[in-house]
Amino acid sequence: MSYGDIVRFEGDIKSMTSQLLKLKNVKISGTIKFGENTEEDDNWEPMGPTPMPKIPTLRHWDFKLLDRYPPFYMPICDLCCLCTFGKCDLSKGKKGACGLNIKAQQGRIVLIACCIGAACHTGHSRHLVHHLIETLGRDYPINLSNEIEVEAPIARTVTGIRPKTLGDLEKILDYCEEQITHLLSAAHTGQEGDYLDFESKALHAGMIDDLAREAGDIAQIVAYNMPKGNEDAPLIELGFGCIDKNKPVILCIGHNVVPGSYILEYLEENNLEDEIEVCGICCTAIDITRVSEKPKIVGPLSRQLMFVRCGVADVVVIDEQCIRTDILEEVLKTGAVLIATNEKMCLGLEDISHLSEDEIISYLIRNRAGLILDEEKVGKVAVEVAKLVAKERKNRKTLPDLNEVIELAKQCTECGWCNRNCPNAFNVKEAMVLAKHGNFEGFIDLYKKCYGCGRCETICERNLPIVSMTTKVGEAYYKDLKFRMRAGRGPIKDVEIRSVGAPIVFGDIPGVVAFVGCSNHPNGEEEVALMAKEFLERKYIVVATGCAAMAIGMWKDKDGKTLYEKYPGEFRAGGLVNCGSCLSNCHITGAAIKIANIFAKVPLRGNYAEVADYILNKVGAVGVAWGAMSQKAAAIATGVNRWGIPVIVGPHGAKYRRLYLSNGEKFKVKDKTTGEIVEIDPVPEHLIVTAENYKECICMIPKLCMRPNDTPKGRANKIYHYVDLYEKYFGRMPPDLEKFVRTEKDIPFMMKDKIMNYLEEKGWKPFEKYPKNPTIL
Ligand code: SF4
Ligand code: SF4
Ligand code: SF4
Repeated sequence: MSYGDIVRFEGDIKSMTSQLLKLKNVKISGTIKFGENTEEDDNWEPMGPTPMPKIPTLRHWDFKLLDRYPPFYMPICDLCCLCTFGKCDLSKGKKGACGLNIKAQQGRIVLIACCIGAACHTGHSRHLVHHLIETLGRDYPINLSNEIEVEAPIARTVTGIRPKTLGDLEKILDYCEEQITHLLSAAHTGQEGDYLDFESKALHAGMIDDLAREAGDIAQIVAYNMPKGNEDAPLIELGFGCIDKNKPVILCIGHNVVPGSYILEYLEENNLEDEIEVCGICCTAIDITRVSEKPKIVGPLSRQLMFVRCGVADVVVIDEQCIRTDILEEVLKTGAVLIATNEKMCLGLEDISHLSEDEIISYLIRNRAGLILDEEKVGKVAVEVAKLVAKERKNRKTLPDLNEVIELAKQCTECGWCNRNCPNAFNVKEAMVLAKHGNFEGFIDLYKKCYGCGRCETICERNLPIVSMTTKVGEAYYKDLKFRMRAGRGPIKDVEIRSVGAPIVFGDIPGVVAFVGCSNHPNGEEEVALMAKEFLERKYIVVATGCAAMAIGMWKDKDGKTLYEKYPGEFRAGGLVNCGSCLSNCHITGAAIKIANIFAKVPLRGNYAEVADYILNKVGAVGVAWGAMSQKAAAIATGVNRWGIPVIVGPHGAKYRRLYLSNGEKFKVKDKTTGEIVEIDPVPEHLIVTAENYKECICMIPKLCMRPNDTPKGRANKIYHYVDLYEKYFGRMPPDLEKFVRTEKDIPFMMKDKIMNYLEEKGWKPFEKYPKNPTIL
C-alpha cells in the first residue's frame, strides 16, 4: 500500500467493547484510506477520483490525447545498444532480440529522457526540502500570503494533498520518487513493449516532474522569503558588463540556491555586501536574486564557458544541473578556485566537508578545488577564499588580446571542420579568414549567436581556442552588455486569475505565451526577446522562466530599455511575468489550473483528467521552449502536454525524436450540454511541434492559442493576430486559415473582405453546429 490508496472492506465483528459502544455479532463494511494522511480532518474539497495516480490511473486520459495527437517519431539512430542481447538493428521493420520494434524503442528513449528530467527535479526538490526541514523543522508553515490561497494547484490536483508544512512536501516527494522508480523500471529490457504505453508513461513522468518542481519552489519561496507573486519584484542587473571586476568575484553556477544563500548571509552578517561581487549563471542566478536583489545575473547557460574563460571570477561555486562537466579544468586554467557543493557533481574532488572552515580555506588556497557537502560552510569559505585569491589574480590575463587573436587566426588552415562540427553550422572558418586581416566582423557576429559549447574547438586541427577568441572580440566590441530583468516573482496571485480568467477562457485575451527553458538557441538570445516583444505589443500575457527569462532581458529598444522595464510584471494582457527558475515553471501550469478552479469552479482535489480536459479545451496557453536542450526540458514539455497545453520547440527540439502532431483534420468532442458527439475545428492543432525559425514560431503561437471554447469575438481576435503575423513575416495569408474559421462571426471586422475572398477560394463551409461545452472525456 502507498499513500492515498483506498480499499473497500467487509467483515464480521463477533464482540467489541469501547467507552462509547458495545458491539456483538455485527457485519461491517466501508472504505479505508491507507498511509499517513495529513488531510484526514481537512474537508477543503471532496476527494476526486484519482488521488496519487499510479502509472495506469490516467492511462485513459493519455490515450485520448495520443489518439488525437499521435506520436511522430524521428529516430536519430535505429540501433538499440541498451543491453548485451544487442546491439540490435531496428531499421526496416526489424525487431530486437527482446522483440522490441523501432517505434517502441523511440517511445522508450523518450520515457528514459523524461525519467532523467523528472529525477533531476525531484532530486533537487528533495535536497532542498531535506535541507530546509533540517534547518527550519518539519512543521515550518507554507504560507504564500493571503493573496495566494490556492498555494499548490498541481499538488492539490495530482495528489489530493493541500500542503501546509514543509513536512507535507516530503510526502509529495515520496510519491514522486515511488512513481519514478516504477517508470524507469518499465524501460528495462523485457518490460513495456507498446509505444503508446511508453508514451503514457512518459506523460506520467512529465506530470511527476511538474509536481516535484512545485514542491521544490514552494519550499524555497517560503524558506527564503522569495517574492510571493509580487508583480513589482525588483529589477536585477544582468549581463557581463554589470560585473564589477575591481572586487573579488564569486560566480555561482547551477540550480540550487542553498550554497549561494549562505554566501549572501555571510556577506550580510559581516557587512561585506559592498566589498564582494556575487553573480550567477543559469537558474542559481535567478534564485539567488529571489533571495536578495544584490547579486547580479551574468546570463544564461550559453554564456558559461565564455564567462569562465574571461577569468573575471575568483571563486566558482557549482551546485547541480546544467554545469559544464569540464568546469574544473576550465576554472583551474584561469587560476580561480572551484568549490563543488553537491553530491550529484563531485568531479573527482576530495571531500573536505569534515574540515573546519579555516582549514578548508587553507586547503583551497593550496589545492584550488574541493568538495564541500556542508553547504553552510560554503558561505564563509567562498567569501574568504575570494578575498585571498583576488589579490593574487589581479592583472592575470586569461584571454588572448586582439593582436594575439589575429596571430592565432593566421594559424587556421581553413579546413572548415569547425563549421561542420558546430551544432548551428556557424561561420567560424569565415570569422578566422577575416580575422587574419584584422577584420573582426565575423567574430563580432559569432559572439552574439554562439552558445559556447566548444565543439568547434575540440575538432580544430590547430587546437585554436575559438571560444576564447570569440569572447575576447565580444569583450572588446560589445561595451554595453548591461541589462535588467525582473526578479522571479513565483506564483500568480488568485486575484490576477479572477480578473483574467474570463477573458482568457472566452478568447478576449488572445493567449498566454510562456517562454521557458534552456539557451540552445539557434541564433542567440535576441530571437526570444523579439518573440516576447511581438506578443507583448499584441496584449498577450507573456510569462517566462529560467534561461529564456534572461534571454528576454538581453535586448534593449532604441531608448536603451529592456522589455522588463517597458512592460508591467502583472499577469494581465500586455504583462511580462518572470516566474523564476526552472522549478518555477510549475507556476505557469499552476496558473492554467487555477483558471479552471478559481474562474470555472472545477474541483482540483485528485481530479486530474477533468482539470486537464478543461485546460485543453478552454485555456488558450502555449509554451515555447526555443532553446530546449536537456532531459529536464523533455520532462517539462511532456508534463505540460499532459495538462493539455501545447509546446513549440526550436529546431534543435526535433532531436527529442518525438512530436505529438494531429493530422490537422476536424476533431471530435462531446458537447457536455447535449451529450452529442460533434465535429470541431482542429484546435489546439498540435501538442508538441518544432518550428524551423523564429518567424515560423511567431506564426504558430496565435494558432496554438485557439481553443474550441473561444467565443466568436475571442476567435476573431485570435484570427486577427494569426493573419496579421503571417502577413507580416511571410507576406501572405496563412495557408490553413479556413480550418479555424467556424462561422462568419469568427472573422475579424477589419479583415472581413480579404478573409471572405480567401475562404471562397478555398471552398470553405461554416460549421452548422458547434459545441457550447466541449470535452474529450
Ligand atoms: S534492449 Fe532489446 S532491442 Fe535493445 S539491445 Fe537489448 S535486446 Fe536489443
Ligand atoms: S562554441 Fe559556438 S561556434 Fe563553436 S561549435 Fe559551439 S556554438 Fe558553434
Ligand atoms: S577547424 Fe580550426 S583550422 Fe579548421 S577552419 Fe576551423 S578554426 Fe580553422
